[in-house]
Amino acid sequence: MATDAHGRRIDYLRIALTDRCNLRCVYCMPEQGVPWKPHDQILTLEEIERFTAIAVEFGIGKIRLTGGEPLVRHGVPEFIRHLREHVGVEAVALTTNGTLLPKFAAELREAGLERVNISLDSLDPDVFESVTRGGHLSDVLAGIDAAFEAGFSPVKLNVVVVRSLHQDLLGFAKLTTERPLHVRFIEYMPVGESAHEGSGCAAESGGWSREDHVPSEETLATITQQGEAAGLGPLVAVERDGAPGGWGPARYYRFEGAPGTIGVISPLSHHFCGECNRLRLTADGMLRPCLFSDIEFDVRSPLRTGTDDDVRAVILTALGAKPESHHDRVGTTRGMSQIGG
Ligand code: SAM
Ligand code: SF4
Repeated sequence: MATDAHGRRIDYLRIALTDRCNLRCVYCMPEQGVPWKPHDQILTLEEIERFTAIAVEFGIGKIRLTGGEPLVRHGVPEFIRHLREHVGVEAVALTTNGTLLPKFAAELREAGLERVNISLDSLDPDVFESVTRGGHLSDVLAGIDAAFEAGFSPVKLNVVVVRSLHQDLLGFAKLTTERPLHVRFIEYMPVGESAHEGSGCAAESGGWSREDHVPSEETLATITQQGEAAGLGPLVAVERDGAPGGWGPARYYRFEGAPGTIGVISPLSHHFCGECNRLRLTADGMLRPCLFSDIEFDVRSPLRTGTDDDVRAVILTALGAKPESHHDRVGTTRGMSQIGG
């Protein structure tokens, strides 16, 4: 069993399968995109599989595939099948912008993917197009339908709350009254400040602004107030056993009688570092102990030229380097699309 220097059990690995994406969300990537890493710097799926097999020996058996957009990488369903059937991971989840789910959902489910989180930040087609710099809302809505049709449960929707985007929070919350969709509101995070340097400070220009951070309590208060005015009743806290299963620190609520839930994830307003259970692997093969820290360890070199023991040594070093807390540190040299969220 893997534990870090602060006694936390680490059993969850987020793997960025690629740094590439078919969208350009304003809070995630600068307009011109980030220069893609050359192919030879990106781990092959075989290298990731080998790394994962070694991580599993440490008891790190929950795997989330992310990116960039993981589904733009070829061979993801087959890769998942390998993880489940040969590597022995406990469960595989996917975080996706949803646009490619109509094409892949059934195949992914059949390959052994257990759960999907779909990111969506506006229900207005024009706003969606501007937030993603060119995406089509209808593609994501079709992706959500495809996830349900393929039988995924739970299906979660991740909404990053950014003040200057003026999102219709109640519109999102109402979706939970229609079907068992779990809508989670995530506080906009100060990641990639220096990566986006010079781009201005508002979310629209791809930078981080403290004014754009909306504390989860404010989001909940807005939804409660607007929900009551719309006759949806109060939001009721959902106990752990009634919440959709997950590996992260969301707190859940629901409108009485609704099939879905409303969650909040509050990395800034409620530090959840004490419960941190994860490591992150970037697409170019760096192992990151903390989302908010620039510290990372090269695992690509030992995967290419070293032994399994060399890889184990990097995992142990990363576990030992997990900070106790992020202390609200703002800015890292990499953007979210490179770290994987
Ligand atoms: N492309 C996939 C997607 O959009 O779901 C996976 C990668 S994306 C980087 C993973 C998650 O990070 C998404 O839910 C996205 O909304 C979120 N994200 C990106 N930048 C963020 C930021 N600055 N603060 C909070 N969440 C962010
Ligand atoms: Fe792409 Fe996801 Fe980042 Fe949007 S949030 S640009 S979909 S990686």
